Amino acid sequence: MNVLSLHQPLWEKLQARRAQLPHALLLHGQQGLGKLALARAFAASLLCDAPRSDGQACGDCPACHWLAQGNHPDFRLLQPAALAEDDGDGESPAAASGSKKPSQQITIDQVRGLDDFLHVGTHRQGLRVVIVCPAEAMNRNTANALLKTLEEPLAATHFLLVSHEPDRLLPTIRSRCQTVAVATPDLSAGSAWLEAAVAGLGHDEAQRWLALAGGAPLLAAELAAPPEGGRKGSKGGENRNLALLTELNAQLAQGARLSPLAAAAALDKTLKADKEEGGAGGLKQLVIWWQKWLVDLTLARAGNPARYFLAEGGALRQLGEQADTEELFRFNRLLTKYKALSEHPLNTRLFLEELFSGYAGVFQQGRGRRS
Ligand SMILES: [Zn+2]
Repeated sequence: MNVLSLHQPLWEKLQARRAQLPHALLLHGQQGLGKLALARAFAASLLCDAPRSDGQACGDCPACHWLAQGNHPDFRLLQPAALAEDDGDGESPAAASGSKKPSQQITIDQVRGLDDFLHVGTHRQGLRVVIVCPAEAMNRNTANALLKTLEEPLAATHFLLVSHEPDRLLPTIRSRCQTVAVATPDLSAGSAWLEAAVAGLGHDEAQRWLALAGGAPLLAAELAAPPEGGRKGSKGGENRNLALLTELNAQLAQGARLSPLAAAAALDKTLKADKEEGGAGGLKQLVIWWQKWLVDLTLARAGNPARYFLAEGGALRQLGEQADTEELFRFNRLLTKYKALSEHPLNTRLFLEELFSGYAGVFQQGRGRRS
């Protein structure tokens, strides 16, 4: 399940650059490729006292032990509190304090906190490594604070920035980094990894999730087997993503026959059940899938096979014949607008009703019936 097996050529390139490693690297690529795991493995490799012949950290030396325990003195990981890996157990300070939600942003205090770390000698007379992930989770002030650090390169110090959306970074930050593109692995490598990573996942199912995840194996693994840790009252083994996706597909496949009110009620119910189990971000996920559905619908309209929804090719072909191209683009713009609102909807049911109503309008009969 080692992520490096998905990115072997890139790993070799990174290793080849060790001798003249730039001050800052920007690893970018779509979400769910394992970029953070890759950055971590590279950091471990740089800090390790005796890396293996393929460059991977030995896992046995004092440096590797410290890193594994999260207390290597020459390593820092800057990420939003909401993404910190040890949360969700109900015991972390953020959860215990109750009222305050953990931040979705990397804060300026986190960046300022690097000052002391960067301006004393390294503890182990070796390298010092800072990972910033995702780098786009910095607002302008935070990014400017980091920029000051990037503008004054320090000896033996390396920054690894990780980004799914490098276009959202300040151009001045981007220009201080050497960019490293993390490619999406080909489908056969991706699905082989996915089958090994998710117990009990069949070949067809693996292909299906991988397609839906746009070829990103780690994202596909998350969809195929969402984490259950810390979930209260989680129904054992039930895949909440699958429930949401199945319901959404069933509604969207109805095209012109869709009832916006009934569809919104059904999805609202599924989202509520998910929320009771501690799931979050269900609505945003739903909008993202919907956007992918529109891509497939547009492809189907032009007589091309589905890219994301492999199992729904037949339904998409039929719908493609009934869809109005102009209305399809109009609805796509609406969906983009709603995606921005999907994390904080005022009223989920109403939100869904408006979207389903817009979707029904994409189809000829739907427009006739609506007016
Ligand atoms: Zn080691």
